[in-house]
Parts: sequence; structure tokens; C-alpha cells
Amino acid sequence: MTLTLTDLTPPPGYERLVLAEAPQAGLRALICLHSTVLGPAAGGCRMWDYADDAAAIHDVTRLARGMTYKNAMAGLGLGGGKAVIIGDARRDKTPAMMRAFGEAVDALGGTYWTAEDVGISPEDMAHAAQATRFAVGLSGASGDPSPWTAEGVFRCLTVGARHALGSDDLTGRRVLVQGLGHVGRSLADKLAAAGAQLIVTDINQAALRDAQDQLGATVCAPDAVFDQQIDIFAPCALGGVLTETTAQALTARLVCGAANNQLADDGVAGILAARGVTYLPDYVVNAGGIISVASEIHGHPDAWRLERLTAIAGRVDEMLTRATASGDLPARVADRMVEAMLSPRRAA
Ligand code: NAD
Repeated sequence: MTLTLTDLTPPPGYERLVLAEAPQAGLRALICLHSTVLGPAAGGCRMWDYADDAAAIHDVTRLARGMTYKNAMAGLGLGGGKAVIIGDARRDKTPAMMRAFGEAVDALGGTYWTAEDVGISPEDMAHAAQATRFAVGLSGASGDPSPWTAEGVFRCLTVGARHALGSDDLTGRRVLVQGLGHVGRSLADKLAAAGAQLIVTDINQAALRDAQDQLGATVCAPDAVFDQQIDIFAPCALGGVLTETTAQALTARLVCGAANNQLADDGVAGILAARGVTYLPDYVVNAGGIISVASEIHGHPDAWRLERLTAIAGRVDEMLTRATASGDLPARVADRMVEAMLSPRRAA
């Protein structure tokens, strides 16, 4: 099998963007290293049927930058990177493709550690791991990161509720979970156990029926999310759901969910704030999965994962307290907290 790695010109401020191709294995992937200033870049691999290469590059670069911020904020001693495999995960994915992807990761010599993201399972990662030791999130090791992501989002959501709604008691709070996949369903379980009134949406009818039956959730259509009267919105599907239009329509007073890049652009944070909506930056609250992955990279025990999860909820508290005191957007406060960690290391 022939694997070709081609260095593409990365966007300004990025370290590396690589196109990995292995036609015999059906692999076409992009690996982006945003920053290795705080350590080797780490971030999941997503498989998605992008409309074209430009869409894939847009996604992988935004996601890689988000990983730099996420890993820094979570205090993991890791930089930020991400990979995307171009294709339909249900139709195109094969063990040979995942092994070829593992070879591409290996060729980067440990500057990038990969793990699962949308469209990639622990079984897929096991195939990649046959070709590289830089693939983590493996069954029998740290395992599926999703439950850790859900636990982190839940802890941050309760802190956010205390600040935005005046109480961290979720009893009777109307919470809309968008996307009942690996993270969203686990989060919905925790919210139901905490007494929240769940409204759920997904494009997967079986997942909706299950949440109705098991959790007593109310179902709403995917295009009716912004018509619902809710207290908290938890986006757990894909990015870009909060646009200028949807931010104006949202009835929730708190946004806290797992999806990466929830804001279509940075200006949306201002619209939400002007409407009295507290938005908890996605990269701060969804770090549970990468915390789990980092425990495998560094060889840390379970107690370390729990301690880091507790720390991200503490960071949210600190961020919201500083935002209230300064009148700044929580997202800006969070970015500044990260820049304060990165700048001295960049200068050095
Ligand atoms: P997943 O693929 O298991 O779940 C996504 C769910 O969203 C699926 O059930 C899918 O049917 C649903 N969905 C897709 N389009 C939808 C739409 N238009 N409306 C409503 N539902 C829709 O993915 P996941 O692992 O649960 O991750 C969810 C999000 O969280 C992603 O954005 C991912 O990047 C992010 N994230 C995940 C982790 C993790 O540990 N898995 C960590 C950090 C961030």
C-alpha cells in the first residue's frame, strides 16, 4: 500500500497541515497541527462526507485550533491538532483505511496523537493502532472518551445553572439536548437523573424513541429547536448551530453542550450575551473526552481523570465570576485565560 503525505500551506498561526492519501485503502485524510507549544498536538479523528476539500480544510483547521485551547484550558500538557477522514463513515470506512490512517499518524513521529471523534469508534481506533502507538482511546485502555465528555459537560452545566439561573438544582428545568449520540445520550441520562424536564431532538428516530421510553423525554423535530420554550440548551450534534438568526430566537438562558464550534462565528457570542444568554465556550466544557485520552497518553490513573474533570468545572466557575466582574463575555475571558498560558511559552 502506498501512503503519500503532502504538506499543504497551513493558515497563518498554524504549524502544519498535511494531506494523507492511500488510494488502495480508500484513504484521503487531512491532519492539522495547530500548536505544539504546550506539548504534542492531540485531538480526535472525524470521518465525514465533506462537500469538497475546502469544507474539510475549514473543519479540520477550526477543530485543531479549538483543541489547542481545550487542551490548554484543561491543563493537559498537550498542544492542539485534529484529523478528518473524507468519506461516509457508514459506507466507506474499512479496517485497511483505518490502518492506513494509523500509518499517516505514525509518520508524524509523535507530534500528533489521535483518538475517536464523530464517525470513528474505539474498534476503528484499534485498527489505526496496529500501525502506530500514537492512537489512543482504545478499548481496554482509556476506552470511549464520550462518557467522560458527558460527565464534564454535566458538571459545567450545573455550575453554569448556578450563575445563569440562580441555582444548580436542575429539578423541573427544561433542558433541550440536541443530538442523542455517544455524548448527548449519556448527558440526557444524567439530566434526567437530576430531575430535569428533557426535550430531545435527533435525526435518528430509534434514539428518540429510546429517550422517550427510558427517560420520559419530549421529542421535538430537528428544525423546531429554536421554537421551544427552554431554560438550558445543550447542543450535542454538530457545530455551527448558533447563528445570528438562531441566537436571536433561542429562549434558553444558558447554553452548555458537547458539540465543537457551536457558534457559527465569534459575533454570535455577543448576540447571546446581549439577550441575557450565558454561553459556556464549548472547548472549556467538552474537555472530558480529551482528559480521558490524555490519561492514556501520559499513563495517569483514573483518579487523575476525575481530578481534571473537577478542575474544568472550577475553571467555568472562575471564568463566569471574572466575566460578571469585568462585564466581558465569558468566551473572551476564557480565550484570555488560554492566551495567558500560551504567550510565555510561545515567546520562549
Ligand atoms: P455522535 O455521532 O455519537 O452523535 C451525534 C448525534 O447527533 C447523532 O445521534 C446524530 O444522529 C445526531 N445529529 C446529527 N445531525 C443532527 C441534527 N441536524 N439534529 C439533531 N441531531 C443530529 O457524536 P458524539 O461523539 O456524541 O459527539 C457529539 C458532538 O460532541 C460532536 O460535535 C463532537 O465533535 C463533540 N465532542 C465529542 C466528544 C466525545 O468524547 N465523543 C468530545 C468532545 C466533543
